[in-house]
Amino acid sequence: MKIHRYVTTSRAEGPGNRFVIWTQGCPIHCPGCFNRALQDEDGGTSIDEASMIRLLDEAICSQETSDPLTGLTLLGGEPFFQAAPLARVAAFAQEKGLNVITFTGYTYEYLQGPEAPRDAHALLQVTDVLIDGPFKEDESSLERPLVGSANQRFLFLTNRLSMQDFQPNQYEIKIEKDGSIRINGMGHMNQLMRLVKE
Ligand code: SF4
Repeated sequence: MKIHRYVTTSRAEGPGNRFVIWTQGCPIHCPGCFNRALQDEDGGTSIDEASMIRLLDEAICSQETSDPLTGLTLLGGEPFFQAAPLARVAAFAQEKGLNVITFTGYTYEYLQGPEAPRDAHALLQVTDVLIDGPFKEDESSLERPLVGSANQRFLFLTNRLSMQDFQPNQYEIKIEKDGSIRINGMGHMNQLMRLVKE
């Protein structure tokens, strides 16, 4: 599969402590997409699902006693663009007791219909919360956690999480061993610029 990056621990991409995978490649091309670098299906890094599952398993084991992982978040890019391998990663996460949040620029109805991407059903089956719908510039809003426009929906496909579990938007800034700075999370751009300047 093609990914942009992953983090082994995050508190800014859904409830609790989460392993997060940003997939690479998105055919939806929403005007105003805030992750345009993740649209190119030829970009990113290739990793086979066995390696990704091993990384997830290592993260689960290493954080077991300190700050246990509670979930896996799949975002993009478009996770349903490569649904089959991600479904196997998500199934492993659920076997280990993690909940799974999957973002998509498609609607739930489209993913269940005849034109759905291949193996969409497999990924839906191992998704606890589906956050669906394309980003729409004319409905742009950061009032709700993790989504950029008012049309996007939180669909609770199982009872493992509810809306009350989601915290307000926040940023996470990590300084890597090589000195590079990584930022993830969600919020107003002016807040982020203030943080970076500080
Ligand atoms: S679905 Fe997401 S990643 Fe794809 S174009 Fe829309 S906003 Fe960008």
